Amino acid sequence: MNCPTPTQNPRINARNRLRAVREAMYGPVKVTIFGKVVDLRGGLALRYWRRMGVRWGIPYDEAIYRRCGNCAAYDTSPDMVACGGASSDGSVGYCHAWNFTCAARRTCLSWSPRR
Ligand code: SF4
Repeated sequence: MNCPTPTQNPRINARNRLRAVREAMYGPVKVTIFGKVVDLRGGLALRYWRRMGVRWGIPYDEAIYRRCGNCAAYDTSPDMVACGGASSDGSVGYCHAWNFTCAARRTCLSWSPRR
């Protein structure tokens, strides 16, 4: 398999990730609060999922089930694991829509169901 360039080049991977954050609300992402990097959970994450629900036109308690891990663009194939673009436990996969390695528990506006 020809490995996608971002799996071989961390800078390109990071650039594409940032693009997904800015243009497709990839998240909930980690933020820095008082100098500490924290994962968005609880109230802050709830706000994120509510915003995603509004953008998708669905209740937030439906939105929270739309995750990279069940998105059609999420690739955790053995080839992708061999490329370094996914983990064998499925927690990290390669996003073919935005071309970066994303986390199964996150999402973005480009989420689409698997067929
Ligand atoms: S895998 Fe799907 S939900 Fe995750 S970043 Fe890519 S397009 Fe968005």
